[in-house]
Amino acid sequence: MRRIVHLDMDAFYASVEQRDNAALRGKPVAVGGRPESRGVVAAASYEARVFGVRSAMPMARAVRLCPGLVVVHPNFERYRRLSSEIMQILRACTPLVEPLSLDEAYLDVTENAWGEPYGSKVAKRLKREIFEQTGLTASAGVAPNKFLAKIASSYRKPDGLTVISPDRVESFLQELPVEALWGVGPVTARKLHGAGILKLIDIRSVDIERLREIVGSLADWLRQLSHGDDPRAVVPDRESKSSSTENTYAEDLVDLEAIRAELERMARENAEWLARRHLAARTVTIKVRYADFSTITRSHTLSLATADADVIASWAKDLLQRTEAGQRPVRLLGVRVQGLVAGV
Ligand SMILES: [Mg+2]
Repeated sequence: MRRIVHLDMDAFYASVEQRDNAALRGKPVAVGGRPESRGVVAAASYEARVFGVRSAMPMARAVRLCPGLVVVHPNFERYRRLSSEIMQILRACTPLVEPLSLDEAYLDVTENAWGEPYGSKVAKRLKREIFEQTGLTASAGVAPNKFLAKIASSYRKPDGLTVISPDRVESFLQELPVEALWGVGPVTARKLHGAGILKLIDIRSVDIERLREIVGSLADWLRQLSHGDDPRAVVPDRESKSSSTENTYAEDLVDLEAIRAELERMARENAEWLARRHLAARTVTIKVRYADFSTITRSHTLSLATADADVIASWAKDLLQRTEAGQRPVRLLGVRVQGLVAGV
């Protein structure tokens, strides 16, 4: 039985800002883009979360929910520096560290440099060392596999530690709602709920063909998770790749609806590519080549990585509004997803 730790910094960007600026402490803080320029919340302090402010939410909405919200422009250079400091602490325990983003990582601590047999004690020590060196708190989940460890780390935040020992896995699964799974976004959750599937264990008894109709290529993966199985290994320093689909048209496309339909199709192809590899992407890029061969790209980076076909498709179509497609004939279209992280 492996011992996997998922370690997640608490409200990372917001905590860094509060640590470095005493005036922000105890205040509702959201790090992200300005509300008037369609900015999005990248991280919200716990004081802001009380008002319902969440990451990935439009900043304009966050300000409406929390009128006293202090909006702070992100300083990614500083977050990246801190992140590599934190990853170094983790790597002193085991080389099997797989970062998911700047502020979270999986560790396989089955064997570790401290000779510590208990995953819970390893996690406690990691949390303590991070706090002593950076003054920041993290939450950790300890479990026999990645998917359970990730859910466990979110159970008690901030500064939490949740351990799912092998003998508690089944009782833990019994309680789990489907939306607790990373990779099951709001759209997929709605589809599952619509079919009467509320808990993860409900998936065990659904006919697999029926399940494919509901969630497409996620079906087999969800079925496996419903039994608590996740064979994914912790892969250190996953190389970043991308997936792209493009097509040149025999006849230039002029109709905007046809162009949107093509982008939708390609976005879905990319989502399937991600699902097959259990990956999620942070950046969606579209490429448009006009009839005169001039070529442009438009990109959007999400605050949360996704493998959700609906989310990727809707961003691809949004980006189209920043092109002249529909006014100028188009001879080539493409959709690319990159900024890949491990996911469900
Ligand atoms: Mg975090």
